[in-house]
Amino acid sequence: MNKADAAELSQTKRMGRILVLLEKTYPEAQCSLDYQTPFQLLVATILSAQCTDKRVNQVTPELFSRFQTIQAVAAARISEVERIIRSTGFYKNKAKAIVGAAKKLIADHGGGVPKTLEELVKLPGVGRKTANVVLGNAFGVPGLVVDTHVGRLCRRMGFTKFQDPEKVEAAMEKIVPRSKWSEFSHLLIFHGRESCSARRPLCKECCVSRYCPKVGVIAAHSPKEEE
Ligand code: SF4
Repeated sequence: MNKADAAELSQTKRMGRILVLLEKTYPEAQCSLDYQTPFQLLVATILSAQCTDKRVNQVTPELFSRFQTIQAVAAARISEVERIIRSTGFYKNKAKAIVGAAKKLIADHGGGVPKTLEELVKLPGVGRKTANVVLGNAFGVPGLVVDTHVGRLCRRMGFTKFQDPEKVEAAMEKIVPRSKWSEFSHLLIFHGRESCSARRPLCKECCVSRYCPKVGVIAAHSPKEEE
């Protein structure tokens, strides 16, 4: 298939072909945060804001072993949580959010993690991104996560022009099958890491190159590379 053929595909069909190729390339794509329970995933996702999953996975073993239940987190001294999570950045806000979320889960949800987006986003430190991570990975409820990397790839691939993650999420929900919402985010995050980084997209060897208009990155490549 040449580029002209790819351009004629509907957005939904083009997305379908891209997903097939990404699934083949990244069969291991899944949530890279370590967790055992929905609450631990909620905490790890709060910690992952402006931080790599790798770094989060370095601090959560101590955090989860020191505070083993939601009740223990709710009763924790903020300074103790801050000390453990310090290296993830923004640790004061994150510690406050984690302890605050645990308290609210006890007060409003009987000490459990709710399974709806509407309830999750009412917890301190939890936005749509975090809520969708928890829904998709801990509960198997389709959740389309749009972080910086997913947003960048959706724009480069010509599926949206929006910068606002919520608008990107709504646009993608129209062209990605609902059953693949959670997987979609993992695949794009893996692809962003391996091929389509912010600074240096490797279009020449990219597995979806033939279906990608490379919006905003063409100038970074030589004309020869684009042939
Ligand atoms: S072709 Fe280039 S811009 Fe498109 S997804 Fe691949 S690396 Fe990213």
